[in-house]
Amino acid sequence: MPTPNLIEYQTTTLGALGPRLPVGIPIGPQYVRDIEIRPFKLLEEKQIGEFRARAQALTMGKLVSHILATLCPRLGPHQLAEMKMADRLLAISQMDMGDVLYAYIYTRVHALGPEMEIGFECPMCRHTYQTTFNLNDVDVKILENDAVVDRTFDYELRDGLETRGKTFHTLTLGPIPWWGMDSPELEGMNGLNPALRDQALLRAGITKVDGEPIQVTDKDLDEMTVYDKSGLMDALSHTIPGPQLIVETACNKCTQKYWQQLEWSYDVFFKRFSRSLAGKS
Ligand SMILES: [Zn+2]
Repeated sequence: MPTPNLIEYQTTTLGALGPRLPVGIPIGPQYVRDIEIRPFKLLEEKQIGEFRARAQALTMGKLVSHILATLCPRLGPHQLAEMKMADRLLAISQMDMGDVLYAYIYTRVHALGPEMEIGFECPMCRHTYQTTFNLNDVDVKILENDAVVDRTFDYELRDGLETRGKTFHTLTLGPIPWWGMDSPELEGMNGLNPALRDQALLRAGITKVDGEPIQVTDKDLDEMTVYDKSGLMDALSHTIPGPQLIVETACNKCTQKYWQQLEWSYDVFFKRFSRSLAGKS
């Protein structure tokens, strides 16, 4: 199996990168990366609350888009402040998944500071405890060069994909747009099914099938063998830039070291860290 030609990303931290998209949006031959954020006031909090109250089938994908559309006058080349809400949401949905997630986390740091309280449960002894985490320390995979590069790659399937009356052999995968996150499968609601999560990411990431621009459906992807799917997911995992939302910790009872996903849902994430409440568990 040929190794796909993957782009190299550099790693920095959120604190070092600041108000800048990890990849950026191509305008002509260059990426545009600056982010502008307005102060998060009660007015914006009310607007986000109203959106949540009236939105149907609200996914984290939709909610994050709305938060950025409300709090960011500008994301790269998008002058959101001058656009209608529907156009802002459309522009954000087409941005790179890593860029949107980064902007969301940066917005939190801008509004409430970098410190947050994280609850852990040790996988060994089940002890639960809380620690303080500094979001400025989050690792971020970035594209360092300013010149636009081709971020797609071809992947040869071993077993092929039998669908639409044919067998396809080569898939082209591109950067995953944020709309790929507009899917309840990616949020751990009702128990996360990893197969549904993989399907949602592949649906958003596959841009061509045997060289033809085809938007694959869940029905097409149902025919993919687990062998091919795991290879694809592995290749895809190297191509997702942006913040790495895993936190290393050591259990303060049995000292076991482990990793845990950083919880970034709005209610947990947009909560001010209070030193007087810290340390209670
Ligand atoms: Zn433990």
